[in-house]
Amino acid sequence: MRTLLVLALVVAALVYWEARRELGLDHRLSAIASEVAGRPVNVDCPGFFRGLVDISGNGGSVMFGPDGKPSNTTRLETSVCGDLAGYGKARKRSDFACVYGSVSCSARVERTIYAALILSHESQHLRGVRSEAVAECYAIQMLPLVAQRLGSPPEEAKAIATHFLTVDQPLVSGDYALPPGCVNGGSLDLDPSNQSFP
Ligand SMILES: [Zn+2]
Repeated sequence: MRTLLVLALVVAALVYWEARRELGLDHRLSAIASEVAGRPVNVDCPGFFRGLVDISGNGGSVMFGPDGKPSNTTRLETSVCGDLAGYGKARKRSDFACVYGSVSCSARVERTIYAALILSHESQHLRGVRSEAVAECYAIQMLPLVAQRLGSPPEEAKAIATHFLTVDQPLVSGDYALPPGCVNGGSLDLDPSNQSFP
């Protein structure tokens, strides 16, 4: 009986600790998404227990209502949340310097970059952008801001966006391929006066 009680207490402590950890991450990511979206929004990570049955495959999602307006919450997948939680650690490893180059990095580094891109991309939907292609274009341009908020210094944050645009984005096709206006000075350039892109 006493063993059962101790076991129950240990499980309760684990559940509490996990819920707190997940809430802390949600809170941190929500602040970043809100800054990008320009309004208060929420990021929802599955946490350990819901993560066990989390099997979707888009990285994240935002629902749009019949009125065409986005919900206030994006749900991110377990793996994306894990990579975002580990961003600070990942960028301190020596292999992360690869982001300054224009060839593909290690899977670990690419996953970290991709997680930041997903957060930026879903934040565009929360801003009200429905098109996947336009959201992707804006997401890459706002990736430096997102990367900075996740812990990268400005120069590294810029390098990450350039790396994604030149190395990873060309591999994307279909709905997520960049529209023709997604170039320096183009119709989707968020800062046309600036000569650098993204
Ligand atoms: Zn999307």
